[in-house]
Amino acid sequence: MGKNDFLTPKAIANRIKAKGLQKLKWYCQMCEKQCRDENGFKCHCMSESHQRQMYVFGQNPDRFVDGYSQEFENSFLEHIKRTHRFSRVAATVVYNEYIADRHHIHMNSTQWATLTECIKYLGRTGKCKVDETPKGWFITFIDREPETLLKESLKNKRVRSDLAEEERHEREIQGQIERAEKLVVQPGVNSSSPEPPPDLTKAESIPNG
Ligand SMILES: [Zn+2]
Repeated sequence: MGKNDFLTPKAIANRIKAKGLQKLKWYCQMCEKQCRDENGFKCHCMSESHQRQMYVFGQNPDRFVDGYSQEFENSFLEHIKRTHRFSRVAATVVYNEYIADRHHIHMNSTQWATLTECIKYLGRTGKCKVDETPKGWFITFIDREPETLLKESLKNKRVRSDLAEEERHEREIQGQIERAEKLVVQPGVNSSSPEPPPDLTKAESIPNG
């Protein structure tokens, strides 16, 4: 299949079938037009405006696929950032939310044939943390916003200074304990007599009544 066949009804139908995305059927990305059914889509493909768009597409298909892929990636990441910035979510959940917008970039116009392929790409390029489980792929947004990075570094600094403070405090307490132990041990060190310490003897000799 040549690149120019990328948006033919047959090619799109095959990709949709392969992905099981029945809902997204019959959307023409080049014209950003949603058709109602196969027949409507066929009619759309015959239309002059679509033919004109296909001519433009045919001039440089790679540029369009790259452009759609980039746009898909941007808006997909934007969606995760907005709704799941700090959590790990199932990729299909994110995707279903993403496609709820009627004007989303359709994945069948991108370089990725499946959601899994796209998720793996996001993991490989360090855009997200991704992991595969028996329940499918999960995805966590990696926040690289300058504002978040700044907050993060301030927090780390605070944690470090808190730790230093804690250590200092601990050393102080340890020092006090050691000094106290020396004070307690000291009187007994030189005394070999089994007699109780003098002050105790004194206390004993005080009459009770
Ligand atoms: Zn079209």
